[in-house]
Amino acid sequence: MAKKINTDKCSFCGRERKEVDLLIAGISGHICDRCAEQAHSIILEEIKKESSFDLNSVKLLKPREIKEFVDQYVIGQDQAKRVLAVSVYNHYKRLTQRIDDDETEIEKSNIILVGETGTGKTLLARTIARMLHVPFTIVDATVLTEAGYVGEDIESLLTRLLQAADYDVEAAQRGIVFIDEIDKIARKSDNPSITRDVSGEGVQQGLLKLLEGAIVNVPPQGGRKHPEQKLIPVDTKNILFIAGGAFDGIERKIANRLNTKVIGYSAAKEADRIERENLLQYISPQDLKSFGLIPEIIGRLPVLAHLNPLDEKVLRNILTEPKNSVIRQYKKLFKIDGINLEFGEDALQYIVDKAIEFKLGARGLRSICESIMNDAMFDAPSEKIDSLFISKEYAEGKIDRSIIKQLKAS
Ligand code: ADP
Repeated sequence: MAKKINTDKCSFCGRERKEVDLLIAGISGHICDRCAEQAHSIILEEIKKESSFDLNSVKLLKPREIKEFVDQYVIGQDQAKRVLAVSVYNHYKRLTQRIDDDETEIEKSNIILVGETGTGKTLLARTIARMLHVPFTIVDATVLTEAGYVGEDIESLLTRLLQAADYDVEAAQRGIVFIDEIDKIARKSDNPSITRDVSGEGVQQGLLKLLEGAIVNVPPQGGRKHPEQKLIPVDTKNILFIAGGAFDGIERKIANRLNTKVIGYSAAKEADRIERENLLQYISPQDLKSFGLIPEIIGRLPVLAHLNPLDEKVLRNILTEPKNSVIRQYKKLFKIDGINLEFGEDALQYIVDKAIEFKLGARGLRSICESIMNDAMFDAPSEKIDSLFISKEYAEGKIDRSIIKQLKAS
């Protein structure tokens, strides 16, 4: 009798065992390593097709529902959320409109968010992208330069989007680009410059056509390192651009503008009152112009929203409320080791107080928690404990020690 091992064949390609590296046996057949790999790539391809963005298959949430979704991740910032929800809703309505319906064409509604650093501008944009299941990328405006200067070409922001979309051009063309630090490319004075202001104004000019909608040839690997690469044409007409910036000092421009309108004693008192409140809520496109954005850019970012500075109460909420809040993440990490982690209310308040004291805002919450939790994360998995309570005293001890360490290091 011939040895059975020699007669086994791949049921897919018919190759015998000796012709392949590996033959996997099933109940009534075999598959070789090559066919298994091929099958795997077919599966990946199919999954990709199914998950690729099809506008008709997206259940478009209404503005209120959009806000409710965002509320799960972003605390406060109601005005910005409402404005964003409406413009995202309109943007996607615009994408589904049929041109032949009538003459009215809905224009693109790119957005500009103004607010101190760490108040949630990026988080808002990221959350919206997550909700819509569209490719999303963040680019820092400060690295962009006009062609021919040191830095990244403006097209590189589309390269990033293409990469986020796994080079699916269709998907990228409906994606969201968050342009961070747009305020850093403001021109230095309100007057159109006599000497050319290369860094700022040139980049603003370069951004115009992208924001408005144009077919741009994009280097798939990014800029200048690969001059031989074939460019991919990307239509930016349906890409939603959200720009964000801290616009440090814009309050003064707002105050100036408001003051020019108030005349007389009672009006002056009114102005004083306004000044003491958060002036950002009165921001208007004019103020962006005074700050140094060119009118054409402002025109292409027609939706303007502001974010409020985070006060103590909001910081406290950020710590525990969002779906993926820092504290929830720690709890989950410990739970994987079978440890029930709890924080005392006074410990949470202590973390907030420290974030305020160190002037770190919401970004600081995480680094403070890291300093507190690091030892516990190192030791707890090896110790046989099933619960851990973080008290204020424990937190204080860890922070004091880490500050002393830093002082010694510096
Ligand atoms: P910005 O873009 O305004 O500088 P980010 O959106 O990057 O700030 O915020 C930094 C971090 O702070 C976020 O990752 C998030 O954890 C936290 N954060 C900031 N603002 C909020 C908020 N309103 N709600 C929840 N988390 C926030």
